[in-house]
Amino acid sequence: MKHKIVYYPHPKPWKWVLGLLLLLVLLGVTGWAVLFRVNRFTLSVQIAGEEQIQLEYGQEYREPGAQTRLSGTLFWKDGRVLEEVQPTVCGQVDTKTLGRYTLTYSADFRGFHGEARRTVCVVDTQSPVITLAEAPEGEWNPGEPYQDPGFAAVDNYDGDITDQVVCIETLGRITYAVLDSSGNPAYAEREIPVYDREPPEIGLEGGQDYAITTGSFYTEPGYWAEDDQDGDLTEQVLVEGEVDWLTPGTYPISYTVSDAFGNVTTVTRQVEVLAKPRPQTQWPEQKTIYLTFDDGPGPYTRELLDVLDSYGVKATFFVTDTGCDDIMEQIVERGHSIGIHTVTHNYEEIYSSPEAFFADLHKMQDIIYKNTGVRTTLMRFPGGSSNTVSCAACEGVMTILSEAVQNAGFQYFDWNVDSNDAGGARKAETVFRNVVDGVQQTGISLVLQHDIHDYSVEAVEDIIVWGLNNGYTFERLTENSPGFHHGINN
Ligand code: ZN
Repeated sequence: MKHKIVYYPHPKPWKWVLGLLLLLVLLGVTGWAVLFRVNRFTLSVQIAGEEQIQLEYGQEYREPGAQTRLSGTLFWKDGRVLEEVQPTVCGQVDTKTLGRYTLTYSADFRGFHGEARRTVCVVDTQSPVITLAEAPEGEWNPGEPYQDPGFAAVDNYDGDITDQVVCIETLGRITYAVLDSSGNPAYAEREIPVYDREPPEIGLEGGQDYAITTGSFYTEPGYWAEDDQDGDLTEQVLVEGEVDWLTPGTYPISYTVSDAFGNVTTVTRQVEVLAKPRPQTQWPEQKTIYLTFDDGPGPYTRELLDVLDSYGVKATFFVTDTGCDDIMEQIVERGHSIGIHTVTHNYEEIYSSPEAFFADLHKMQDIIYKNTGVRTTLMRFPGGSSNTVSCAACEGVMTILSEAVQNAGFQYFDWNVDSNDAGGARKAETVFRNVVDGVQQTGISLVLQHDIHDYSVEAVEDIIVWGLNNGYTFERLTENSPGFHHGINN
């Protein structure tokens, strides 16, 4: 049997393949399109490094860079870096100016846009630096105020800010402080090598409360001043204030001294000028004659003492420094009163000033004390308190003295009967007459005589006899006796 081979026309196989391929392509494109829609691509810019960068002033800014990244919701979820699309940076950082700078990074890719921002702050956190100059050695004398050797303050941003440094000097140290324009602080401290913390000390000899009696000269009782650094400062003490030793009262005297560092010390002494209480005057009840003799002792005084003794009469002697020391002693020994007259009896000298008068007064008091053991307070002014002879020496001196001597504890006696034995009466007879006449006009008589005149001494016996016969009592003066003060004429 013979086979007959019949060929059926077959569709050509490449057509199939082509068709199939076409179908696949169609399916693929559609699928891609669908996937692309569903995947929802986004373009983003991712910056490297921190979003906020703090940059110290002067530090260079290095751009850390950024990437463009494409991502989708289904695939490229983590994004795919588009190396070929470099983000562009907008903005600049000026590292020479403090401030806040924003950099914007943006990228575009096939209609997509991505963006990111970075903030760069240029700040100054660096404190200024204070430099202290070295103290030149040995040039500072510890006795002088401390001189700051100098300092400087420099800031990395503000530059020289020395003029803004605040210096505070407290005990023993100087503190320097400054802030730069960003508020960064700087401090420095310096020890003052020798600091005199202690003010000087003043000591007062005789104490802060010091008293003298009116009429005693005030002489500075003494003081000392010592400083822990400067040593003895006694020489530098300034003494201020005056004591009116003639007028009772309280007088402040201040003592001030400062050490080389300027510490000042002042102490005050209160000097009290005391007034002695004045004795009460006791007037005798009976007719009384006080015989008083000035300017002696002299060549007739012994004779006078004998006369007085023989009648048991006591009198009062206002003595001068005549050198008859033994007679002075006799006066007291025989029971008479002794009083101060003057050392020199030189009006011009003793009345030249209160100082001169008191110097004379005290000197005479000392002489009497030395010779008799009596520190008498009884006295008679040469010329009497009413004298005008002192006008030439010192105007007003009697006004001052008449008060001052009493505050000083002296009792001064004038007279109300003048024998005039220093004036016109040059005979015992005249002296007697003058005294008797005077006495007759007064109940209580304080008689002035001078035992340096023989005729005056000669008259005494007659005066005594007359007095006793006429019922008078002869008395010596005491501090309580009436003073018969005259009116003051100078
Ligand atoms: Zn006299």
